[in-house]
Amino acid sequence: MTDQPKSWFTTGLTCRCPRCGEGPLFMGFLKLHHQCTHCQLDYSGFDSADGPAVFVMFIAGFLVVAAAIIVEVIFAPSYWVHLALWIPFTVIVSMLLLRPFKATLIALQYVNDAAEGRLADKEDE
Ligand SMILES: [Zn+2]
Repeated sequence: MTDQPKSWFTTGLTCRCPRCGEGPLFMGFLKLHHQCTHCQLDYSGFDSADGPAVFVMFIAGFLVVAAAIIVEVIFAPSYWVHLALWIPFTVIVSMLLLRPFKATLIALQYVNDAAEGRLADKEDE
């Protein structure tokens, strides 16, 4: 194991541990391991919440609407063709993007040492 910091971009895209870049981040589709299997980094403090879903909605929405407009202008198919094309396309694009976006946001949390907001104690001021 090297001590050189790993890029948040590559660890996010490969869905690997943000510290070592070796251990897998997910044990299921989106469920995190409790800790890294390689460097034992504790994953319990990481929470990307709805962040990845927002990015995926914007990107998938843009892709689907742009593709639907292009298909409509060029081929002018009936509405059932649009439904048969764009509903599965939306689901597939969203599923493909969700894991890397969640891993990237977790890697950014690790790199920036981000944590949930708290009220400061009187002694901290
Ligand atoms: Zn690790």
